[in-house]
Amino acid sequence: MSGENTAWAERSDSVIIGNYGRYPATMIKGEGCILTDADGKKYLDCLSGIAVCSLGHCHPAVTRAICDQAQKLVHISNLYYSQPQIELAEMLVANSFADKVFFANSGAEANEAAIKLVRIASGPERYGVISLAGSFHGRTLATVAATGQPKFHEGFEPMPEGFSHAPFGNLNVLEAMITNQTCAILCEPLQGEGGVRPLEVEYLKGLQDLCRKHDLFLIFDEIQTGIGRTGSLFAYEQLGVVPDIMTVAKALGNGLPIGAMLTRKEIAAVLKPGTHGSTFGGNPVATAGAVATLKVILEDGFLVAVQEKGEYLRKGLDDLATRFPTLATGARGMGLLSGLALTEKGIEQGTAMVNSLFDRGVLINFAGNVALRFLPPLIISTEEIDQLLNALGEVLGECEA
Ligand SMILES: *Cc1c(COP(=O)(O)O)cnc(C)c1O
Repeated sequence: MSGENTAWAERSDSVIIGNYGRYPATMIKGEGCILTDADGKKYLDCLSGIAVCSLGHCHPAVTRAICDQAQKLVHISNLYYSQPQIELAEMLVANSFADKVFFANSGAEANEAAIKLVRIASGPERYGVISLAGSFHGRTLATVAATGQPKFHEGFEPMPEGFSHAPFGNLNVLEAMITNQTCAILCEPLQGEGGVRPLEVEYLKGLQDLCRKHDLFLIFDEIQTGIGRTGSLFAYEQLGVVPDIMTVAKALGNGLPIGAMLTRKEIAAVLKPGTHGSTFGGNPVATAGAVATLKVILEDGFLVAVQEKGEYLRKGLDDLATRFPTLATGARGMGLLSGLALTEKGIEQGTAMVNSLFDRGVLINFAGNVALRFLPPLIISTEEIDQLLNALGEVLGECEA
């Protein structure tokens, strides 16, 4: 770190709470897949602000929509109707299983809404939500309680009541955990933060069967998998299992803070005026940006290209795993949500690999302490994917030595 980057980092550390471990770069500009820091160093962004900027940084259609809306109306609260909010809800409904949408400002808030919905819809005796080990559902108290990774709970106990975690991939144990208090099963169709771990289609179908048998709601957290990331607008479309409730956020606004909970109209009907709300939820600028984002993602051929580029990337990652078998076991993922699973020796060096790529100007991260995670903008070119694979090959070569 040098010059401007150092100066900004020092200012930041003196006034901003240190709850994030940050890389030594202050990003000042982004265009497509490229970020530029305060010292002028350029980075190939293969994280997209953690699966957020799917159309790349400062996509012209989104930037135009934000600017246009900001000149008309920035905020009105939910006491009044809002045009871009209505347009966005219509698009989400037209392109999913859902009939109704609630807007929030983040993923955790979308999940909070889903948890409140299943509780109010199930009556006072039934409030339990079962989620999976290794899952990630957010950082608020309820969503962190739903998160199946103890490291996120440490120091914040007692956790709110009503959350339990089933072991990953075992339906029998999960069924044995269902009690008279249980009202929902919550899961990600593919665990993102947990290390890019896909759930088997058979397992997801089994979850749906359990929900039907025990009269539970099935909630899919598609905050990371949704909005085109996996090569379909929502991951559930490829898995053949339709949830009762789905949450989305991250990529929905291509960088604007927005989340949403989607469900069928019979379930939605229990949220009557006054039961739940958000001051900023569905804010006009955020929803206008999201409408522009969805329009691009829904253009003919866009999602097919995401699938093809995902396959291209995973083929390259598999080739690297073949070249470096002591470090990596193979690629996994869907669309452009990809991971390179590491061996035990590789895991020891996972953080060093990410740091070494950072030094070379390539941004990725290490997810769940098991896999390198790649979340490039969906508009990434095959040349840029090659650049990533070449840099990763060099880094793996160094680590092997
Ligand atoms: C990121 C994420 C969340 C939390 O979203 P925030 O916007 O950070 O609150 C929840 N669930 C999943 C699957 C995520 O990837």
